[in-house]
Amino acid sequence: MPSPIDTMTARPIDTEASAGKAITPSRLCVMHVRVEPAQVWFDCPRCGVELEGYYSDPRGQTDVACEDCGTVFDIPSSASLVIT
Ligand SMILES: [Zn+2]
Repeated sequence: MPSPIDTMTARPIDTEASAGKAITPSRLCVMHVRVEPAQVWFDCPRCGVELEGYYSDPRGQTDVACEDCGTVFDIPSSASLVIT
């Protein structure tokens, strides 16, 4: 429920501004961030052994097998990326 004050003052201005943003060519954006190949590693969630040798972001991979204990696990895309 908009209050009378909103209707008479801010709302028309906001609507105009939103329409302008939609029509005006959008702000410039960078859509690709380049990263030099870097080795990444993570620990097996079962045995804790350090698994390495991945040269790309492994997040989002499923059915990753531990080289040591054979446990199969997933790395959710929501896994945190820690810069060391
Ligand atoms: Zn393991």
